[in-house]
Amino acid sequence: MSLVVQKYGGSSVAEAASVKRVARRIAQYRRAGHEVVVVVSAMGDTTDDLIDLAERVTPTPPARELDMLLTAGERISMALLAMAISDLGLEARSFTGSQAGVITDSAHGRARIIDVTPGRIRTALDDGAIAIVAGFQGVSQTTKDITTLGRGGSDTTAVALAAALDADVCEIYTDVDGVFTADPRIVPAAQHIPVITPEEMLEMAASGAKILHARCVEYARRYSVPLHVRSSFSTNTGTIVAEVDRVGFPISFNEMYLPSKSNQEPAMDTEASLEAPLISGVAHDRSQAKITVAGVPDIPGKAAGVFQAVAKAEANIDMIVQNVAVGQTTRTDISFTLPAADLAATMAALEAARGEVGYSELFADNKIGKLSLVGAGMRSHPGVSAKLFSALSEAGVNIEMISTSEIRVSVVTRADVLDDAVRAVHHAFDLDSTEGEAIVYGGTGR
Ligand code: ASP
Ligand code: MG
Repeated sequence: MSLVVQKYGGSSVAEAASVKRVARRIAQYRRAGHEVVVVVSAMGDTTDDLIDLAERVTPTPPARELDMLLTAGERISMALLAMAISDLGLEARSFTGSQAGVITDSAHGRARIIDVTPGRIRTALDDGAIAIVAGFQGVSQTTKDITTLGRGGSDTTAVALAAALDADVCEIYTDVDGVFTADPRIVPAAQHIPVITPEEMLEMAASGAKILHARCVEYARRYSVPLHVRSSFSTNTGTIVAEVDRVGFPISFNEMYLPSKSNQEPAMDTEASLEAPLISGVAHDRSQAKITVAGVPDIPGKAAGVFQAVAKAEANIDMIVQNVAVGQTTRTDISFTLPAADLAATMAALEAARGEVGYSELFADNKIGKLSLVGAGMRSHPGVSAKLFSALSEAGVNIEMISTSEIRVSVVTRADVLDDAVRAVHHAFDLDSTEGEAIVYGGTGR
């Protein structure tokens, strides 16, 4: 008997019929003798709709109340799912994040999990019941207020529970058959990836790949929780996120979850996989904005002044570009990217610091897109950037900013050419599938 944590995303429970379909899938696991904990997201685009609703009431909803509102979405789906399961003759008990013991800090809208005390979940399992937990929410340790973990946070709830319950696997159910070399909504020729290492998955997620929440992958890596990303609309094998051996087979993954070694091809071609694949995929992100602080005096302490202001606005910055002043000038420009949602507050904080920093002008731009090429093989392969830049130039795409890590190259482009850029780069690195188009089973991609 294994303990399985399953997470179902919003598109998998978008309507009554899909709730019943998911319930049947859960029942199969329970009837096969497994202990099952289910984490569920809000139905379809409920969270976005609730945010729109709040904005119609006030443009500046208090963060505490917004969290209270948004957590209602997951309460609806958890209760309906428990009803659907009981209709199939099995016992299911639903729990809010707080009841499930998800303890967080008090940062509304972006709370971090500091402890998980799943006593009531353990009791439900011991009683033979299926436990259903509302994703994306917890309770603050200090204020006891209800918090949310940030958009897409249900993945993180699932992994945190899997770690706390010492689950055998954490299955993340979504509307595509696992992780692809690019978002199949933009690149229909995207290839399915059978196994990916946590390191690569983390770079993909942090670069905007929506398939998994970056914090969930981080958490899974830290606590060695095996992740399995699958479609709730098919029985295909999906993607395993785990460390791999020399022939590309996942290590420390319960056999029950492996495509059997005999009747399936190894995860990667045996010869080729003695080295990491050059590229695992192309991720894109359109949720970022760019700020340029122009005419910053090129003397020590000024960059610090700029980013102290940014830190006050609590923005999570990503790329930073600055050059030394050249020629006659004694001033330089600093550009950086940040979540578009933090743009207004950060601009205000920088305005306030104008006198102190002494820059000359401030520019905000929320029409940018970011493309990232990720692959562990980059470490040992020169020429990846050159190939990336020529693919973009052939597609007529202008590069505005560049940043790199050991296994990633990212560029900022105009938002309206991002899709073309992703397709061009995917093609240039020979990632296009020859086996037909990837299936997107549901969801609005919102
Ligand atoms: N319902 C929340 C959202 O849409 C959490 C999640 O789906 O993981 O962001
Ligand atoms: Mg959602």
